[in-house]
Amino acid sequence: MKQSCFLLMLLAASMMNNVAQSPTELAEIWDKEHVTNKFPSNIRHAELKSYLDRLRSIGLKVDEVGKSFANREIYQVEWGKGPKRVFLWSQMHGDEPTATSALIDMFTVLQKHRGKEWVKRIERELTIRAVPMLNPDGAELYVRRNLQGIDINRDARDLKTPEAQLLKQLRDAWSPEIGFNLHNQNELTAAGSTGQQATISFLAVYGDEAKTESEGMLRNKRLIVLLAETLRQFIPGHISRYSDEYTATAFGDNFSAWGTPVILIETGALQGKDEMFLVKMNFIAFLTAMRAIADGSEKQADPQRYYDLPNNSSGSLLHIIFRDANLADRQTGEISASDIGLAFERRRAQFSAPATIRRLGALSSVVGLTEYDASGFYVVGRVQPIKPGNSGDLLFYKKDRKIDWSIPDLEKQSEPDAILSFGKWLKGEGVVPLKK
Ligand SMILES: [Zn+2]
Repeated sequence: MKQSCFLLMLLAASMMNNVAQSPTELAEIWDKEHVTNKFPSNIRHAELKSYLDRLRSIGLKVDEVGKSFANREIYQVEWGKGPKRVFLWSQMHGDEPTATSALIDMFTVLQKHRGKEWVKRIERELTIRAVPMLNPDGAELYVRRNLQGIDINRDARDLKTPEAQLLKQLRDAWSPEIGFNLHNQNELTAAGSTGQQATISFLAVYGDEAKTESEGMLRNKRLIVLLAETLRQFIPGHISRYSDEYTATAFGDNFSAWGTPVILIETGALQGKDEMFLVKMNFIAFLTAMRAIADGSEKQADPQRYYDLPNNSSGSLLHIIFRDANLADRQTGEISASDIGLAFERRRAQFSAPATIRRLGALSSVVGLTEYDASGFYVVGRVQPIKPGNSGDLLFYKKDRKIDWSIPDLEKQSEPDAILSFGKWLKGEGVVPLKK
């Protein structure tokens, strides 16, 4: 009796402990206390430095550990005093910024909540090191590669870039037990065949082509199961598994081979939510992972459930689809029925992203994040003819109008009813109806 009482108390205590950092509570903490306040895509090296100054001012250890090709400082943040060594790095691709902000918010919250039990446990069990923005030159230009034009994530063997040399050196000098490789993926990546955006994708990265199973790999699969379960409360249907094709020159694969099994986290997008929401999802995932590594709670998870996650897929989503448009050929005046599928290019949030025509024809197997019913309109290209690869700036004319398509300067001579430019309505917003 006494023993079962004790067990009940233990159970209650562990439940209370769980409640104290439930995913919902982590979300609330982020809502109230996040210090990153700009969209990550707008953050450059100078802003990162001011974020890091703030971390220093609340007592975090922030060290300059190296320099980029253009001599920009690369930093490492360290927190915790425990024996388990956890390493994270973000933005090795300059235009993949979400996790950089989430790391700043994670360290801020860990430091500010050091008095809380769940944080004490992480501090006692783990030493966390993170390199936010490994590729500051790429981040400055908002491009994938470093200033030498090299993809750092294909430079793990050749080590031609200073950034890759640094990353390897930081690993080799410390031999972390787990690594988190933090990226962004295409917004149009889908979770399996669901037609839903893959907002967060995970991968337990094997260290060899034969996909040798190890304790570290199993732990990482369990962790991913736990992280996916946690995030499912916020983004059900939008979590998937990244392709596990072996890439001999990539860092994830090599870290795993060198003895630091890696979890890859790829952040996509979610229609209707902004970049800060994605930072919050990363923040919740990171802290859930840190807590689990600290208290071993991931051991409850069944690694086989990792394979329940749908695979990432591409080709089934576009940013905008105009259904049943009537394409007018400016040369011949011929009219043909077609759907028009557009995709945006990746840009900082502060800049408009150009849209490109990706696909034409009957796009019944493709889902548009926004879909319009263009059946009541003639459509012509604003600057280029409508064909795949051309600009997605479009002019819309109501079908009851008689238009001479061959006249030069069509836009001025025959004013369109609506104009789409850079994916936004320059004129006539609401004229082309959304598809019901
Ligand atoms: Zn990437």
